[in-house]
Amino acid sequence: MRAIQSGFGCRPVLRRAAAIFATGLLASALVGFPAQAQTVNVYSARQEALIKPVLDQFTASSGIQVNLVTGDGDALLARLINEGRNSPADVLLTVDAGRLYRAREAGVLRPVESAFLERAIPSHLRDSEGYWFGLSVRARVIAYSRERVKPAELSTYEALAGPQWRGRICIRSSGNIYNQSLVAGMLATEGQAATARWLEGLVANLARSPQGGDRDQIKAVAAGQCDLAVVNSYYYGAMLQSDDAAERTAAEAVAIFFPNQAGRGTHINISGAGVTAAADNVEAAIALIEYLARPEAQRWYAERNNEYPVRLDVEPGALLSSWGDFKADSVDVVELGRLNAPAVMAMDRANWK
Ligand code: FE
Repeated sequence: MRAIQSGFGCRPVLRRAAAIFATGLLASALVGFPAQAQTVNVYSARQEALIKPVLDQFTASSGIQVNLVTGDGDALLARLINEGRNSPADVLLTVDAGRLYRAREAGVLRPVESAFLERAIPSHLRDSEGYWFGLSVRARVIAYSRERVKPAELSTYEALAGPQWRGRICIRSSGNIYNQSLVAGMLATEGQAATARWLEGLVANLARSPQGGDRDQIKAVAAGQCDLAVVNSYYYGAMLQSDDAAERTAAEAVAIFFPNQAGRGTHINISGAGVTAAADNVEAAIALIEYLARPEAQRWYAERNNEYPVRLDVEPGALLSSWGDFKADSVDVVELGRLNAPAVMAMDRANWK
């Protein structure tokens, strides 16, 4: 098996390199959070089904009760900012380094020191001062029609700006942080001029005005509205395993391709967690994040979400392993947050809706 070259570190590893709740519900769920030492209050942008079982295991092993509030990532962050010092939340669990970066910038996280987390999590997948830690990895890949595209035609994100893809590409809107982070990653490695050129070519190649989420892009490829799309890897995995036959059929009509293997590697991002600035239960909060970084939790958490473990010593599940090894971009994910504003500006300039 081929080693991941950069994204997950330099040593060989056996892996494929890898608004849900209404605000009212959020508010009501917070009432009655007890402020005891053996409790930890979590704001989670991950749906309950994707996180609750591992939190229950944490409670069983530590005796620390977890109060879980789930919601949309941006809504939860806004709520944390609005609540300020009075927030009952101890832990923010959310997706995308760009969002975790925003949380730190907004002053709602605090730095924590954990030798365990520093050892377990590669340094480019966490905040260098301990404000947040990556817990799982996702790749932003090309999903292409098995019928109309040959993998040999694919190479890099950059190549998607070429004239052969005119009118053939689907991608969601520039308002979505996944695309913003993709562009920020390109800015970090390729620079402003190359990124601007790419954006112009990509937008010219869109089959339709950006709409829907990543699953919708995969469905559009399957339906023949476009020939390829750029999507997060776990959506493809979730659709392949979906209870909904139409989703499965759509996913089976596409395959995924890991771009930029001969160069900087495929763009990756993280889900992650940080201890809040307002936390009363700091120790319990750190204990929870450390629990999520343990090998057994990593295995479950990554597999349940069709993501890659953030740890080098934990292998991905069978489905992700079947997709093959890939070289991941080794850019520090902090850069994805730091370059978010220039990325959004560049996307606006290119008229990416
Ligand atoms: Fe997502």
